[in-house]
Amino acid sequence: MQQGFRAFPPVEQWDDWVEGGRHYGLVATTCFNCEAACGLLAYVDKESRTVKKFEGNPRHPGSRGRNCAKGPATLNQITDPERILYPLRRAGKRGEGKWERVSWDEALDDLAGRVRRAIVEERHTSVMYHVGRPGEDGYTERVLAAWGIDGHNSHTNICSSGARAGYAFWMGMDRPSPDHSNAKCILLISAHLESGHYFNPHAQRIIEAKQRGAKIIVMDPRLSNTATHADYWLPTYPGSEATVLLAMANVLIREGLYDREFVRRWVNWDEYLRAALPGEPVTYERFEEELRRLYAGYTPERAEAESGVPAATIVEVARAVAAAGPAFSAHTWRASAAGNLGGWMTARCLFFLNVLTGSVGTRGGTIPNAWTKFVPAPHARPPHPKNWNELTWPREYPLAFFEMSYLLPHFLKEGRGTLDVYFTRVYNPVWTNPDGFSWIEVLRDERLIGRHAALTPVWSETAWFADYVLPVGLGSERHDLASFETHAGSWLGFRQPVQRALAERLGEPVADTRDTNPGEVWEENEFWIELSWRIDPDGALGIRKHFESPYRAGEKLRVDEYYRWIFEHSVPGLPEAAAAEGLAPMEYMRRYASFEVPGTAYGRHEQEVPTEEMAQAVVDATTGRIYTSAPPGPPSANIVPVPAPPGDAAGRRAAGVMVDGRPCRGFPTPSGRLEFYSSTLAGWGWPEYAIPTVIESHVHPSRLDPAREEFALVPTFRLPMLIHTRSGNAKWLNELAHSNPLWLHTGDARRLGIGTGDLVRVETEIGYFVVRAWVTEGMRPGVVACSHHMGRWRVAEQSGTDRWSSALVRIEEEGGGKWRMRRLHGVQPWSSADTDSSRVWWRGAGVHQNLTFAVHPDPVSGAHAWHQRVRVVRAAPEDQEGDVVVDTTRSHDVYKQWLEFARPASGAGGLRRPYWLLRPLRPAPEAYRFPEPGR
Ligand code: SF4
Repeated sequence: MQQGFRAFPPVEQWDDWVEGGRHYGLVATTCFNCEAACGLLAYVDKESRTVKKFEGNPRHPGSRGRNCAKGPATLNQITDPERILYPLRRAGKRGEGKWERVSWDEALDDLAGRVRRAIVEERHTSVMYHVGRPGEDGYTERVLAAWGIDGHNSHTNICSSGARAGYAFWMGMDRPSPDHSNAKCILLISAHLESGHYFNPHAQRIIEAKQRGAKIIVMDPRLSNTATHADYWLPTYPGSEATVLLAMANVLIREGLYDREFVRRWVNWDEYLRAALPGEPVTYERFEEELRRLYAGYTPERAEAESGVPAATIVEVARAVAAAGPAFSAHTWRASAAGNLGGWMTARCLFFLNVLTGSVGTRGGTIPNAWTKFVPAPHARPPHPKNWNELTWPREYPLAFFEMSYLLPHFLKEGRGTLDVYFTRVYNPVWTNPDGFSWIEVLRDERLIGRHAALTPVWSETAWFADYVLPVGLGSERHDLASFETHAGSWLGFRQPVQRALAERLGEPVADTRDTNPGEVWEENEFWIELSWRIDPDGALGIRKHFESPYRAGEKLRVDEYYRWIFEHSVPGLPEAAAAEGLAPMEYMRRYASFEVPGTAYGRHEQEVPTEEMAQAVVDATTGRIYTSAPPGPPSANIVPVPAPPGDAAGRRAAGVMVDGRPCRGFPTPSGRLEFYSSTLAGWGWPEYAIPTVIESHVHPSRLDPAREEFALVPTFRLPMLIHTRSGNAKWLNELAHSNPLWLHTGDARRLGIGTGDLVRVETEIGYFVVRAWVTEGMRPGVVACSHHMGRWRVAEQSGTDRWSSALVRIEEEGGGKWRMRRLHGVQPWSSADTDSSRVWWRGAGVHQNLTFAVHPDPVSGAHAWHQRVRVVRAAPEDQEGDVVVDTTRSHDVYKQWLEFARPASGAGGLRRPYWLLRPLRPAPEAYRFPEPGR
């Protein structure tokens, strides 16, 4: 493992590493700045007990010692003079900016009392936990399950729902895990090398493959740094990606370049034939005939007309994909899938290419994420909640992936419910979500939200509207477990408070993480344990027992005990690996903060169902689906359980599928195979989308008026050195990037008479923002783009959002839902404990475009379709950079228009949602049923 990492301090010297005459304890943890959870190594000065720097952790299997700029910048975050060090309570009206210090005890007692009352009075759905960056797997869901509430809310639907839906309808697992390192051809829809999902771990493996000769294909209307490294840059018009992918599929089909045997064995073609051509022979040959017919119309010429990419290039790329065969890795996450009405179909059509090339679960192919992600089981698992929260899972969106989080303001305004206690956790919807002024309107209304506790490491535009601002730790100040699909292997990462870990290493007692964190900064995990004990002090509600020590009966769980139990019992191979070094499992993880879980990620669908399981199995004669009454496998295994539909009298569990007479594990879909035909989509109101097809985007050229200078705006791209709210307090990162100009093609700019640096107004359906233009050949004509990683603001000179990144603004409410924001000044120097703050030279803070976007809920995936139909004009004389004007009455109208597209759960089978579809914090089967009339 150490080979190739000679530049890193050897592990034997991590207890006492000497550098520049100083003695350091080196403590491993994981980065909290994006979803990749790369390894970090903190250099803690043993004398001052301060962290001197963060470098990569060479023992981390995902990141392998490497980081992007945001990893080392964790140092800025923990030393930020603007950070919140003590719990605060609102002392004036919400949003007025008056705060007083409060003790953790006072905050805990108040919140626990309200949560307890809600539970006792059976108002379970009035308690909600809304997470932005989870950075962990399952801890908080366990807390909510212990409370018995369906109160989990997330940011997923403004991020990855489209991609998740596209993948899940194929394979029952909602993420791809591309094996880039071993691929011969890599197709990326978005800017993976600089800002993709699992950015640094994927980027290093994509480049490895490229160095070995793999072809890189990038679809993006913007010439990103990723596109510049590609063999083929396909600057597709936004929303045309699915058409291009189906044209490639057509080339593979008509030229016979697809893996016929894989498709025959693993695609549910028989189900398609039975549904689409009843009475016809159910033979594979008939299906192939049908396949040719279905996709013959997706010609490369049609794709060229839609996308602007030459037909010849599409054919060439399709043949490159086919040549890679099973070593074709592909990935899409946000980008097109998050931008367009019907964007989820981009992911479905992309995975169609994996299916046709037989590159599913193969070396160099694309692996279902559940085969690489590892989530270990804790010591106590509470039952599934028995209630269903319609504020997050409304009946209009029965197939959504997942909670309809960004519609919350509209649901509250419509009177669909109220919240008694609202926890936001590392989440900033006012700035991150579309339609932020509607969020402000509900956040400040105490009739709609009784208590708002913002658990956050930094000030944010949303925390400003909280009742409590509760400071929680950064990546080196908290415990979390995380595991992600970075490559064809599994690992478990252990985020830990590095000063606490060093103190324990030196034999110093630590009561809780606050002892070693700055000020009174805590970690959520200990906070939730303490809060749960106060909700149920005598254990009568059945909550407390889930927060008792597995080692000391009846006593309060310590956070280190929680992880110790997992490491001792739930991680295969870890106890042995630790013992080989003379360490206990907990000591091993405190030392390395990561562990490579043994096992192969390839070909799990082919694994045979064991004979003993088959002995009690029933095989469906038509479909070959294998059912068993045996309990599911161990929860710690990398297995996505396939639950039987609720109400199955036999209590059956799908355990596999017969393939050519062999009992195979298959895929966790209703058919057990990869679903070319989705009976779920067909049965839940969307028969026209049951097979891979094209859905016309809301920014399709036919919906734009060129005479009015309307463009498709791509507002979703990330900058490599920033990450949403969390990088606002990192001075190095903001020095690197502090503007988000509007990318505009040279020809469009010439026609509009706009040059680089000119101010333009970008008009959306609910308002406008004013931004500077950047004229470039690197943008597809007819499309404009603006990074969303900008436009941080605060309303008070000396408090609120960090001054490294925010502009001071004035917000005016003009009545009737009309809002206006004007920048008073940009970033400027100030004096603080960090002398660098007086040397700030940049003035830019970017423009907050998301405020001007109405919500666009995709009726199937539930994703917010981020792309905008906009008009771009020269700024008016009265306009200033950073101006934002919005009408929230209009935004509520747009919400209602999009709501009309939804096809609510029909109540078929009495269910709110297909039980087999993934769902965070899955409620008990009975909660899936609509209440009977009159109840
Ligand atoms: S890619 Fe960068 S920000 Fe993300 S976890 Fe790795 S080091 Fe941190």
